[in-house]
Amino acid sequence: MTASRIVFLMYHELELAGRKLCQSELGYVRYILPLETFRSQMAWIKASGWRGLNVGEALRYPAEPGVCITFDDGCETDLIAAAPVLREFGCNATFYLTAGFLGTPGYLNAHQVRELDEQGFQIGCHSMTHPYLSDLTEPELEREVVGAKLQIEAIVGHAIEHFSCPGGRYDRRTLQMARRAGFASVANSQFYANSSRTSPYELGRVALLRDSTLEEFAATCQGRGLWKKQFQQRTRISVQRTLGNRAYDQLRAVLLGRQHK
Ligand SMILES: [Zn+2]
Repeated sequence: MTASRIVFLMYHELELAGRKLCQSELGYVRYILPLETFRSQMAWIKASGWRGLNVGEALRYPAEPGVCITFDDGCETDLIAAAPVLREFGCNATFYLTAGFLGTPGYLNAHQVRELDEQGFQIGCHSMTHPYLSDLTEPELEREVVGAKLQIEAIVGHAIEHFSCPGGRYDRRTLQMARRAGFASVANSQFYANSSRTSPYELGRVALLRDSTLEEFAATCQGRGLWKKQFQQRTRISVQRTLGNRAYDQLRAVLLGRQHK
């Protein structure tokens, strides 16, 4: 991997002992890392002499080794669990918030969003209500992309420049809407590293899974083995296209249930 290729990592809620998660279905929980797992990953970044970058920093594609750290959904653990660990290991990150979830149980409230912002982390947008954006009508899409941006900007008092797609789903209209809204970048959930040749509106990101090892994490940061994940994902996307999002989610719930029996 050349120095100018950067892997963007995608985290979600973190699991704290004795604390209930925002959602309980298996398709959600498999993306939830225990706090200690996250901590060991950040420790690896620091021990390796790498930098943990937010999206704005990563898009400048610095030559020194680094990885971009992002969180989706705007869970309260962004502030109470992730932020202290990030600070401890000198890492920055972008927190993409679902505007309509703010202030509901388990999610950040406006005061906490401002606190994250004031600590120097970057705040991004992850839609208003977390729908699959490719399924929406034009007015719905506008509310999810433009409305959400304005709502988060009203909280922090400055421009929000980066967007991530709920469930990784997007289409051409989504990207047009994001550009029109004034977003400088859009991140999806496809397994590829980004470079200065990647469109900032189609940034790949690699989701971390709760049961992955530190060796797998190191390989991911180095961009090793992403082609394999990408191949599996392409197969999944073609099944999604054939079945439609709703039927696919039902099938996935059944298959995940089986795996865990
Ligand atoms: Zn999400």
